Amino acid sequence: MNELIRWQVVDPNSGAPLDQQCGHVEVIVPIATSTIAGCEDCLREGSEWVHLRECLTCGRIRCCDNSPRQHSTAHWKADGHPLLRSVEPGESWAWCYPEELFLLPLDD
Ligand SMILES: [Zn+2]
Ligand SMILES: [Zn+2]
Ligand SMILES: [Zn+2]
Repeated sequence: MNELIRWQVVDPNSGAPLDQQCGHVEVIVPIATSTIAGCEDCLREGSEWVHLRECLTCGRIRCCDNSPRQHSTAHWKADGHPLLRSVEPGESWAWCYPEELFLLPLDD
């Protein structure tokens, strides 16, 4: 199943929609969260992670900036994939690195 997510740019503090567009949202390829084992890079390196993020370009799972290795940010710097989203239970936000935009799914 390919769930299609549409995103809107919101204020990170209030969650209020902003009159702004992210120019990268078309690259999103969502994956099934049930298949997540952990940060792929941490699993390979034997390091630990705090929270998990999904790259919305390649669909790989990596760790957040509170994790020692910060693999999601390292991936953005190394490969230039602009968007990630949280795959933590109850969290649905996404982040655009190049534009520093906070995104939430748009409810129809
Ligand atoms: Zn963007
Ligand atoms: Zn990691
Ligand atoms: Zn990626």
